[in-house]
Amino acid sequence: MTTVVWFKRDLRTRDHAPLVAGATLAEPVIPLYVIEDEYWQQPDTSGRQWGFIRDSLDDLDRQLRTAGNQLLVTRGSVIEALRQLKASHGIRRVFCHQETGGQWTFERDKAVVQWCSDNQVELREWNQFGVVRRLKDRDIWDRAWTELMRQPALEAPRCVPAVGSIPSVAWRSLEPGATGADPCPGRQTGGSSPGEKLLASFLERRCVGYQYNISSPNTAVRACSRLSPHISYGTVSLREIYQQAKAAGNHRNTLPRKQKSLTSFRSRLHWHCHFIQKLEDEPELEFRAMHRELEGMKTGPNNSERLQRWQQGQTGWPLVDACMRSLQHTGWLNFRMRAMLMAVASYQLWLHWRDPALHLARLFTDFEPGIHYSQAQMQSGLTGINALRIYNPVLQSQKLDPNGEFIRRWIPELAGVPREMIHTPWLMTPTQKAKFGGNTYIAPVCDHEQAARAARKAVGDFRKQYVSREETGRVLDRHGSRKGPHQTRPKAAAKQTPDNQLSLFD
Ligand SMILES: Cc1cc2nc3c(=O)[nH]c(=O)nc-3n(C[C@H](O)[C@H](O)[C@H](O)COP(=O)(O)OP(=O)(O)OC[C@H]3O[C@@H](n4cnc5c(N)ncnc54)[C@H](O)[C@@H]3O)c2cc1C
Repeated sequence: MTTVVWFKRDLRTRDHAPLVAGATLAEPVIPLYVIEDEYWQQPDTSGRQWGFIRDSLDDLDRQLRTAGNQLLVTRGSVIEALRQLKASHGIRRVFCHQETGGQWTFERDKAVVQWCSDNQVELREWNQFGVVRRLKDRDIWDRAWTELMRQPALEAPRCVPAVGSIPSVAWRSLEPGATGADPCPGRQTGGSSPGEKLLASFLERRCVGYQYNISSPNTAVRACSRLSPHISYGTVSLREIYQQAKAAGNHRNTLPRKQKSLTSFRSRLHWHCHFIQKLEDEPELEFRAMHRELEGMKTGPNNSERLQRWQQGQTGWPLVDACMRSLQHTGWLNFRMRAMLMAVASYQLWLHWRDPALHLARLFTDFEPGIHYSQAQMQSGLTGINALRIYNPVLQSQKLDPNGEFIRRWIPELAGVPREMIHTPWLMTPTQKAKFGGNTYIAPVCDHEQAARAARKAVGDFRKQYVSREETGRVLDRHGSRKGPHQTRPKAAAKQTPDNQLSLFD
């Protein structure tokens, strides 16, 4: 009997339960990846994400070849691929990991379940993250997460029996669907090998000082693990990362500073699943506010000029524009700067969260729907259970890029402007502009302080009028994190962690 191991966002052979289960049966296995054109037409997908996957497929194929097999890559729909493999190879089982994605992948997965049931094909799914399907009680979640992370990680199988070679599509040169041109010269390279190297360099050297250096865009590039695209596409297993980080932190020669950093890093791995669980429990979060009553706070289409200026890194606020331009170039940004970009769009520019969230999703190589939509809403004040965080783009700039290095790097218009003026170039006199440059940099889209005040008032007024305790209680019950000895439903929004973003800051 032939088994298909269907790879989705789990592009590795180490700690891959479906592959190990398939190999253990000692019967032929077809490792399958399907390039789903319809998926690549979704508004949150992009060429840089595909580029990372393409690298990862190459690497996965190499790993499978060392085990005597190879990756079959087809194009179209998964059901069509399975139908053909059933006709040509009489497949009887499909093994895969669970996925918590957007509505499109959710519907696709349901269709695959139905097809397997209609065609007498056994479908088995494993859990690679601490995300619990059909979770009844949020209070047991933390325990379940820890149990999963502590289970031994699986070795890559040495031998995966093959059915013989089946020709793949020419995926190495393919640009599927509507992804189109998406130049991202600084994109991270996909594949387990680069992912494992990143993990090793982080645990050996880079993690020292993690908790102090992850907020400034200058230091974060090195201080953060940079593992996010590898976790999102599963080129390295979250459990292996957790276990290696724990071992490195517990080693008796580890300095206290490094230990603290690794504890802080491990808590992020927990948040990874905590946020995905929100989308798993409430898939509608992709489209509407977590706190349903806050959905009506902004109505009508977005102001297209403001949206465009934000998207193009042309707001006139240097740190905001530098972040957007660097993100376009590299596909990555640290947490604090992602939060600031989203918050500025939602508050100072008063845009509805969906357009900015989709734009950022496309720019993030590491796009992970569960984290992304929950975070985008949290930074837009739509959860109703977290403190509002309206970032002041000038104060952030003065604090996190005091010398203006990051700004100068990404905004050539300001390359010659000294540090005292670089955070507020609109205050430069014509003489200063003539001397230092800066004439070509755009004036601010609005007065950011006035806009922030107006936004705070508008949110406050709306909340007073339309927000009920019942709905806030529902959100807390369903999505609030549990901390403390009993890990039961939290009593007050202010006590929330990690949702309370204050705990994320240096
Ligand atoms: C508006 C917004 C959108 C975001 N969208 C995404 C996304 O699409 N994909 C994504 O992976 N992360 C997203 N994040 C979370 C976070 O910014 C990134 O995980 C982090 O910057 C990735 O870099 P790193 O791997 O070096 O992080 P590290 O600090 O090294 O953290 C290690 C891992 O922990 C997890 N993690 C870290 N911070 C968070 C967090 N705040 N919430 C949940 N998980 C976290 C990630 O898996 C990350 O790779 C978003 C944050 C915001 C504010």
